[in-house]
Amino acid sequence: MVSTPAVGTNSGCQYLPHPTTAQPSPNQYLLPLTAQVNSQDHLQIGGCDVPALVRQFGSPLYVLDEQTLRTACRQYRDAFKRYYPAESLVIYASKAWNCLAVCAIAASEGLGIDIVSGGELYTALQAGVDPKLLYLHGNNKSLEELQLAIASGCTIVVDNWFELQTLAELTHGKNLPLPIMLRLTPGIECHTHEYIRTGHLDSKFGFDPDQLDSVFQFISQQEGLECIGLHAHIGSQIFELQPHQDLAGVMVQWLSKASQHGLPIRELDIGGGLGIRYTESDDPPSIEEWVRVICESVVKACEAQQVPLPKLIAEPGRSLIGSACVTAYTIGSQKVIPGVRTYVSVDGGMSDNPRPITYQSVYRAVVANRMSADCTETVAIAGKHCESGDIVIKQAHLPKTQPEDILVVMNTGAYNYSMASNYNRVPRPAAVLVNQGEASLILQRETYQDLIRQDCIPERLMSKDKG
Ligand code: PLP
Repeated sequence: MVSTPAVGTNSGCQYLPHPTTAQPSPNQYLLPLTAQVNSQDHLQIGGCDVPALVRQFGSPLYVLDEQTLRTACRQYRDAFKRYYPAESLVIYASKAWNCLAVCAIAASEGLGIDIVSGGELYTALQAGVDPKLLYLHGNNKSLEELQLAIASGCTIVVDNWFELQTLAELTHGKNLPLPIMLRLTPGIECHTHEYIRTGHLDSKFGFDPDQLDSVFQFISQQEGLECIGLHAHIGSQIFELQPHQDLAGVMVQWLSKASQHGLPIRELDIGGGLGIRYTESDDPPSIEEWVRVICESVVKACEAQQVPLPKLIAEPGRSLIGSACVTAYTIGSQKVIPGVRTYVSVDGGMSDNPRPITYQSVYRAVVANRMSADCTETVAIAGKHCESGDIVIKQAHLPKTQPEDILVVMNTGAYNYSMASNYNRVPRPAAVLVNQGEASLILQRETYQDLIRQDCIPERLMSKDKG
């Protein structure tokens, strides 16, 4: 286990993964699995020197480690094969980070992709993902998104009555029934941040299970719709296993109810939610453990309720990609307020990582160009945006820093790029995929031209004659 950092310890090196097991679970480490300190005392990821990557690709920079991402994909996939005696599928919740390269990697590992908008669907299709492995979520899908999903052949996870009725109309009189899944709110609460808690009854997502009879009855009367599966997602960054065990029992009851309506529902999607280690006090279960508990719970519940084993689907996001990426920033100005605090500013912030200001999320950082330097300071890492709350890390234990040092914030793979904005018209960073000493650009850095690409200005405002 990684020890608690304190002023005076050697910060960078203590976060290096020292996998002691044969199958290190990426979600249990602060740095990607390939992280090392090289002979220059620099952080190296995927065989690439991180300060050198910043010199080559600019700053800030997302650095995504391919091996860590692939390891997590394989661990999920293999664990389901090991612990579940029937068919299973892992689908990557691409809201965590949706772009061509990431979709392509997940698909190449045999994963499906969970998408929640026409844009995510389009990206996955452009990445060459088989539409049969795409699952479209969302509580307010537009008609255009539904039509695109039907035309492309992906599975729609129906969220509410309005959508169900729209789909019934769209598919009326068509030759083949449209396969759909239903999202339900299981009423299971998790000890996680309120904004990302989605499984309780007071949620904007999914049907109320009390309405199941009428939903099943409605579907059984629609020739154009075929309900193939049920879905629930109880929240994100969850460390407990009990809520998922309970979820399995609840969902199998729904399956049993479906068969009473003559609906042979064959798929159960238990959502995602496994947490990752952002700080040394976080202690999430491993991917293997999470999968084992879920599989055993589903099997047990099916035996108890005499329901045939469904195809079991899980849709993790954060635990697949969160620990595979770091964000490298360049340090600039510092403001010392004696006896109060020192602010060390970086060249990014809430536009490339909105989680601290949105969810008060806590991150850890290292100085990538002096990994074995002792920590002598506790400082606040400030973003560059015009917002007092734009603080990347409130209390960072670091060596004494100076302008041009490379600060690496760890575990930024999930919900950073995908939630990034152009606040203050700051261009979004580039992203590189690193693997065995090779760095490939997967997202170009935005330029100032990109920022005004969609702007329009009425001609009269361009007029030089202001009279
Ligand atoms: N599935 C659904 C429906 C979600 O809303 C989310 C995210 O909240 C996920 C899967 C992925 O969750 P996580 O990234 O915590 O694994």
